[in-house]
Order: sequence, then C-alpha cells, then structure tokens
Amino acid sequence: MNEKCVFCKIVKKEIDSKFEEESENFIAILDIKPKVKGHTLIIPKEHYETLMDIPENLLGEMIGLARSVAKKRADSGANGFNLLMNNFSSAGQVVMHAHIHVLPRYSNDKKKLGFFELDGEEFSAV
Ligand code: AMP
Repeated sequence: MNEKCVFCKIVKKEIDSKFEEESENFIAILDIKPKVKGHTLIIPKEHYETLMDIPENLLGEMIGLARSVAKKRADSGANGFNLLMNNFSSAGQVVMHAHIHVLPRYSNDKKKLGFFELDGEEFSAV
C-alpha cells in the first residue's frame, strides 16, 4: 500500500468510489470522470505501479474481471467495448497505480478511440 495513492485509499475505503464488483485481488469501480457511459477501472488491491509490476499469475484474473464488467455492460445495452491501459507517464498514465480502463461502446456514442496521428513520421514494420 502507498499512503498517498488515491486508488490505495479507495481499496482501503478511506475515500468513496462507485464500487461495481471485485475478485480476490482486484476491484472494479466507476471512473470519476467517465469518458463514456459505464467507464470502469480494474484496479489491483495491492499497489503496483504499472503492468510490469503486477505478478504474472494475477494477469488472467485482471483481464477476467475486465471481461466480466464488459459483459455486465453488454447486458445493459452496450454493444462493444475498448480496453485501455496507460503505462508510465510517457504513455499518459496519471494515477501511478496500475489499472485497466473498460470503455463500453454504443453504436451511437460518436466516440472514436484510434491510434494517434504520427505527424507524418513513419516506422517500418520490422
Ligand atoms: P490514467 O490516465 O490511465 O492514469 O487514468 C486515471 C483515471 O483515473 C482517470 O480516468 C481519472 O478520471 C480516474 N480517477 C482519478 N481519481 C479517481 C477517483 N477518485 N475515483 C475514480 N476514478 C478516478
């Protein structure tokens, strides 16, 4: 646990969150600033900073909880979903406690999650 970490505080119930579901080692909560209806975060109960710190034997459980949340959203009208994980600040990670975003998608949500523009710079495939 990290004293200053907002997600550790949520796990310890020191601050409120909109709890969705949990597994042995992870919780699923609603994002405080949802990018789309039902935007949910999958968060390990232990403090791991990025994907690289999460023990390998827990990764299946983490993706399993993401899939369970996605299924719940499908039951209430979503017909697709994106999974997103920002790792390290260079990749846009703001909360340095690893988490997967589950972004339910709806045919008419007018959102577009795509690869960033490469500013004309091209990379070879190998
Ligand atoms: P990231 O850029 O991947 O680190 O995203 C962090 C996410 O955590 C953002 O989508 C925030 O809206 C979300 N967030 C930050 N604080 C809270 C909180 N107290 N409860 C729920 N979600 C939060």
